[in-house]
Amino acid sequence: VLQKLVKAEKLQMVSHLAASISHEVRNPLTASRGFIQMLSEETSEQKRKQYTEIALQELDRATEVINDYLTFAKPALDKEEKINVAEEIQHVINIITPLANMNSIRIKLSLLEDDQYVVKGERKKFQQCLINILKNGIESMEINGKLHVILTNNEDTIQIDIRDEGSGMTQEQIHRLGEPYFTTKEKGTGLGMMVSYSIINQMDGQITVVSEQGIGTCFSIKLPIYQ
Ligand code: ADP
Ligand code: MG
Repeated sequence: VLQKLVKAEKLQMVSHLAASISHEVRNPLTASRGFIQMLSEETSEQKRKQYTEIALQELDRATEVINDYLTFAKPALDKEEKINVAEEIQHVINIITPLANMNSIRIKLSLLEDDQYVVKGERKKFQQCLINILKNGIESMEINGKLHVILTNNEDTIQIDIRDEGSGMTQEQIHRLGEPYFTTKEKGTGLGMMVSYSIINQMDGQITVVSEQGIGTCFSIKLPIYQ
């Protein structure tokens, strides 16, 4: 009975999330549609420029929300896959490297090639979780920073450390991390960490964070190894 309850709660949370995210995407799309319509009837060159800019900004906003949320938006399929952790880390680093390159940030990966640890969960969601954390690390750093990803294992858990040399966080920021819409970024969505926490929670894992202002931040994900 308890497990069923937990599951019902999770599903309810997820459907609330889905509803609020659709709202977050629909608003900027509607706004952008409005400005494009006005654009088509506008003759003043200055106003046309202004409308175009706003429409583009609104579209970027919608893209950001989808980027932070992407795979999480399909919660109905509660499928469990065997996930090779090292493989997925490699994969998400490949995906995120162009963003890192744009900011001259190097990503260093430390793992033992021979260790093929398997965890259980949904591959796409796991990727989304890692991408959101890697992206935050990159966004926290100035040019030439280094992002270090380390995979280690204990007896029955694996640990992924994602360490940046970025701005770090205040106690209050650490406390509010994962709260929906909490962001300190001009164009942030404040959805990324909420999504990451939910995914790791669903996989029976834990995320901890150590952060110091002006020094950097380290996120640690712990997950049970599937035998
Ligand atoms: P967003 O990235 O859209 O702001 P997130 O949920 O991904 O939303 O992150 C919420 C906030 O947590 C960020 O705005 C930032 O203040 C803080 N944060 C998250 N990761 C880091 C990090 N690696 N370094 C510094 N601050 C971080
Ligand atoms: Mg983010």
